[in-house]
Amino acid sequence: MAYSLVLLLLFFLGASIGSFLSVAIYRIRNNKPGIFFGNSYCTSCKKHLNVKDLIPIISYLVTKGQCRHCKKAISPYYLFLEITTGLVFIALFLKFPFLQFIPPDNFIFTAAWFIPFLLYAIYSSFFIGIFFYDLQTKRIPDIFLFSLLPISIIGSLILGSPQIWNMFVAGLIALIFFGGQIAVSKGKWLGEGDLYFSFSLAAIFGWQLLLVCITASYFIGALISIPLLLFANIKKDTPIPFAPFLIIGAFATIFFGNDLLSWYMDSITI
Ligand SMILES: [Zn+2]
Repeated sequence: MAYSLVLLLLFFLGASIGSFLSVAIYRIRNNKPGIFFGNSYCTSCKKHLNVKDLIPIISYLVTKGQCRHCKKAISPYYLFLEITTGLVFIALFLKFPFLQFIPPDNFIFTAAWFIPFLLYAIYSSFFIGIFFYDLQTKRIPDIFLFSLLPISIIGSLILGSPQIWNMFVAGLIALIFFGGQIAVSKGKWLGEGDLYFSFSLAAIFGWQLLLVCITASYFIGALISIPLLLFANIKKDTPIPFAPFLIIGAFATIFFGNDLLSWYMDSITI
């Protein structure tokens, strides 16, 4: 019981951050002031929303996805973003179980798990924000890029892993690999935003897991784009935003990267 309550609280914490991200994405896209502060309002009738309208997921279900004032439909995209962030927070807790449950109702708090949980929760929030922003606009906002990079470097310094030399090697790989593609394709395949974003991944993962992340991204990218190209009437030169694939690859790396890496190392040493 107590354990499910912790999971539920974490889900709602994640969903609230998802809700904040959707507001931030909207305000950055539309050049509206006050990404962090300022009242929320209905984008259609401009009426201010109060606490009752802003409870993640629940408000959406209670109002059946409509604005209480003008009845305009609220995009289910917000609901999806909130649920995604909530689920990611639960998955991170299972990966870094900073509260260990001792039946019947005791918990042991482990700071050594809490710090990575916190850092990865921050990274994940940026990833999800970039994912949805890039999907909508094929751009990554500078404010996400240039706050994530220093945060990820400081995060890795706090965790003591990857080490500085490793971050540097990973950054160099990212520069050659992504910078090379940008130069060759004159920015058609990838944008500068993808390159800057890959520097953050380099700082978070180090070079070995960065390679896992890149491999996973291209694998997922192929799985998704090939059917699109074949069946969905999408032309070969239609720009497909790349950062969402990198982000799915990054999540795969967070949760399974070390397993994938050791599986690969085993299979080449046999
Ligand atoms: Zn309204």
